[in-house]
Amino acid sequence: MRTSDAESAMRTSAAESTMRTPDAESAMRTSDAESAMRTSDAESAMRTSDARTPDTGNALILSRLPSLPLDILYEILASLHPLDLLHLSRTTKTWRVIVLGRSATSAWTRSFSSQIKNRPSIPDDISIPRLTSLMFEPFCQYCHTHTSEVSWECRVRVCQQCVDLHYLWTDPIPDAEPDMYLKIHEICPESCTFASATLPFKLWRHATETLRQIWDEYLQLKDDDAAVTRWLDAKKAQKAEIVKHALECAAWVALQDNVQ
Ligand SMILES: [Zn+2]
Repeated sequence: MRTSDAESAMRTSAAESTMRTPDAESAMRTSDAESAMRTSDAESAMRTSDARTPDTGNALILSRLPSLPLDILYEILASLHPLDLLHLSRTTKTWRVIVLGRSATSAWTRSFSSQIKNRPSIPDDISIPRLTSLMFEPFCQYCHTHTSEVSWECRVRVCQQCVDLHYLWTDPIPDAEPDMYLKIHEICPESCTFASATLPFKLWRHATETLRQIWDEYLQLKDDDAAVTRWLDAKKAQKAEIVKHALECAAWVALQDNVQ
């Protein structure tokens, strides 16, 4: 089978599948959960035909691809665009296991590196499927409506209505000492991407949930000054890496806008 045939089959199937963001999030969570999946599990799943797959046309081709030798199969996957891999992972349970399993990591890396021009780097703390979704799937990750707004630092695509619900500039940790409150804000990823749905200007905001998580981490350490210092230093370094990657992603978006 030529790669173009496989690609065509995969694109068709992906187009026919549901492509909503909840599936993306589910797939990503599954990916994390399945990262520990052994290759034998994936191989077993590949040999099990999916009874729900329509036995016609491209769907038939797609359903038979998993029976290919693994090295050939992963070569085909590596030749596809990452977004096609993401779509393919949602077509059937069998494909989800194959595409999001640990054994497909190399295929994802090669796909991302070869198919995306001027691509951002891939940090260790975000999976390629999740980064792909963030880059290419135009859906709010909270309500799944169409939106072009991305906070690369917060690593979320979110519409203006959901910004007002989940991103606050007011104080969600009112008991914080002023000095520590400022330090916590410094190490929390933030976004000025969004204009409020009710206010006509842009704001620096933190994801309320993230800010509270960081505050909870601090509370666990607050009685140990040395531990707090080490924790703050680690968080500052982590945020610096996130900011650096966010700039790479924003530069990639700018290049896409210039092409269009
Ligand atoms: Zn939304």
